[in-house]
Parts: sequence; structure tokens; C-alpha cells
Amino acid sequence: MSTQPTNPEHHRQYHRQTTAIRVGQRRTAEQEHSEPIFATSSYVFANAQQASERFSGEQAGNVYSRFTNPTVAGFENRLAAMEGAQYCVATCSGMAAISGLVLALLNSGEHIVASTGLFGSTVALFTNYFSRFNIDTTFVDLTEPTQWQHAVRANTKLMFLETPSNPLCEIGDIAAIAQIANQGGILLAVDNAFCTPVLQQPFSLGADIVVHTATKYLDGQGRCVGGALVTNDEKIHDELFAMLRTTGPCMSPFNAWTFSKGLETLALRMKQHCENALGVAEWLVAHPAVERVYYPGLASHPQHKLAQSQHSGFGGIVSFEVSGGKQAAWQVIDATEFISITANLGDTKTTITHPASTTHARITQQQRDNARVTDSLIRVSVGLEYVDDIIGDLKTGLDKIA
Ligand SMILES: *Cc1c(COP(=O)(O)O)cnc(C)c1O
Repeated sequence: MSTQPTNPEHHRQYHRQTTAIRVGQRRTAEQEHSEPIFATSSYVFANAQQASERFSGEQAGNVYSRFTNPTVAGFENRLAAMEGAQYCVATCSGMAAISGLVLALLNSGEHIVASTGLFGSTVALFTNYFSRFNIDTTFVDLTEPTQWQHAVRANTKLMFLETPSNPLCEIGDIAAIAQIANQGGILLAVDNAFCTPVLQQPFSLGADIVVHTATKYLDGQGRCVGGALVTNDEKIHDELFAMLRTTGPCMSPFNAWTFSKGLETLALRMKQHCENALGVAEWLVAHPAVERVYYPGLASHPQHKLAQSQHSGFGGIVSFEVSGGKQAAWQVIDATEFISITANLGDTKTTITHPASTTHARITQQQRDNARVTDSLIRVSVGLEYVDDIIGDLKTGLDKIA
């Protein structure tokens, strides 16, 4: 069972949808149709000589599942191929991927430029923890490439962005920021959680590393926590692999199997998430209790044109502000019947959350203001239920506060 990187020559002839279903499977002698789960922590060797050669790296092959596991390799190869890349390292969570990325590629004294609207835990990680290792982060506006340019210092090593942003769905111009990073010899990492490789390909726009939480759309059914780092650069891959396999946040074989199966239906699910989200966003715009709707698929969205050129769909996340502040927002959330009140997103089940008191509660008021996460903001991850039912469930609370 080999764990070679994805061979792009072999897979280039297939559409991403075929890749998602066919790449990454190595059938065993049992001729199983679906991918097996290799629930094993370790591997046996034919003899002492082979053990020695496997440990020294002279011979490729599995040694221990913290390093490689065939089920995990299947997921890594499938996700890499979908991103149009060569290499992938899977992790036990999206946050493990982000912390591993920084630990692997930055030294103490180096600097990060990142967008303000990042996932709450990512902001906390950069601000509260990496600062302790003398790695400082400057937060800039995702939508203003000139701010990225001005934030560059001699010691800047990494640019990190998430587009569309969470929860306001702002769009960053990946190609423009990649050009600034490239000119400065700075690496660009893109968190592709909201779009997935189905809707957005950061490598084709100049990114060096794509960051994933597998917990969201890749699984898509709210079952497992996982993450991944994808790259086309062998040297970067080797550094990521060495750091992550030494520090230890590896993906479990069961979770890798779940995510591989999730990828098989990702394109179909994303198509329907986009369609339902647009339906919900358009309905919200017309409701008298709604002050503002954030969805890149609306012509009124400030980066609608950029989203059109950068995405093949606008995603499943819709945020909106209601009149009446936190009390009204909580009322709308509490009036729902089937929509799940949970911070998770990217699920077949529609979820609703109040970012200011949940996902963005641990950051400071100043950071919340910078990210423009107000008390009247509600985020909906539009699922795959029938769209009129989703709208009906939001309508109950909105009609009450109107
Ligand atoms: C959830 C999320 C993460 C973190 O992923 P976990 O799997 O929860 O650790 C990172 N970035 C974005 C955009 C997310 O939504």
C-alpha cells in the first residue's frame, strides 16, 4: 500500500466530479467496491532488514499511523486532486491544520498578514498564542489589497486569508493578494472552507497553500472533525508533513473514510446549497424586519462581480442583520422549529447562530467591531431541506419582530 503523492498526469483527464469519486482508492486483494477502513495503528515488516529500510526512509511504505495510514492517504490524495494539487497532509481538525501551518513554516520573529474577518478561533490563535512565540499578526481588510501591500514588513513570511469571510461573506481578490505576496517572497495560504474546491480553486489564482476544515462541507453531514493542508510545493509539503507528524494531530482512519465518502457527493451538495442559499437571501432582502443581507450572490453585494469571476457558485452561507439588536436576533433564532441552533456550518441540516455571542464571543469587542460582527447579526448555513420550509422557519420569528 503506497502513499505516493497524487499523480496529476494520471488525473488531469478527469473532471473534478469524477476525481471526487474515483481518485484515492487503492483496491485490496479482497476486491471490495467501497473504500475499506484500515483501523490499525502500526504495520508489520517482512523481516528486520525491511523494518530498518522503512524506518530510515530508504524504502517507501507505512510505519506507524501517526505518519501514514492507507485510509487517510486515500482522503489526502482525493482532496489534493480536487484542488488540482500534488500534496495533502490531513489533520485531526481545521485548527490543527492552521496551527501546524504556522509552526511548520514560520520562525520566531517572523510576521503574518491576515484578514480581519477570519474564523474566531483563528483570530484567537494568531493573537493570543503565536504572539507568545514572537510571531505577530497584522490584520487588514480582506477587500483592500493595498492594505496588504502596506502591512508587509521585512520579516513577513505568510499571508493568510479566508474568502468568503465568516460570517459576513466578504470576498478577497485572491489573484491580487497573491501577486503582492509573490513580489515580496511571501507565502499565501487560503482557507477554502466556505467554497470548497468545487466552487473556488485558490491554486489557479496563485495561492501556495490551501487550508481546509473537513468538518464543514467536505463531510457535509456534521459527523466528524478534521482538517487538511494542500500544496503543490514539495518542499513546503515536506515541512508540513514533518511538523504535523512530529507534533501529532493526525486524522483518524474512520474520520478519513467519512470525509472520502463526503467528497464523493460534494459537487452535488454544493450546487443545491448555492441554490437554496440564493432563495433564502432573496427572500430575506424583501422582509421588513431585515436591515441588511450579506450574500455574494446578490447583485447588491459590494464584491458581487469579483465573486462571479472567482467562484463557480456563491456558497451556502447567508448572514443578515435584523432591527432590534441582540434581543431581536435571539428572538428570531429561538422561534425556529427545525433549524438547528448550532455554530456548525456546511451541513445538510440548516443551522442558525448569533456570531457575537457564540463563534465570535471569545475575541475582544474591538476585534468584533473590526470584523463588523454586530449584535443584530444572524448567520444561517443554508442546508439541503426544501427551500420553502427553510424560509418558513425563519419567517415565524421575523414576522414577530417586524
Ligand atoms: C470551522 C472553521 C475552521 C476550523 O476548523 P475545525 O475543524 O473546527 O478545527 C477554520 N476555518 C473556517 C473558515 C471554519 O469555518
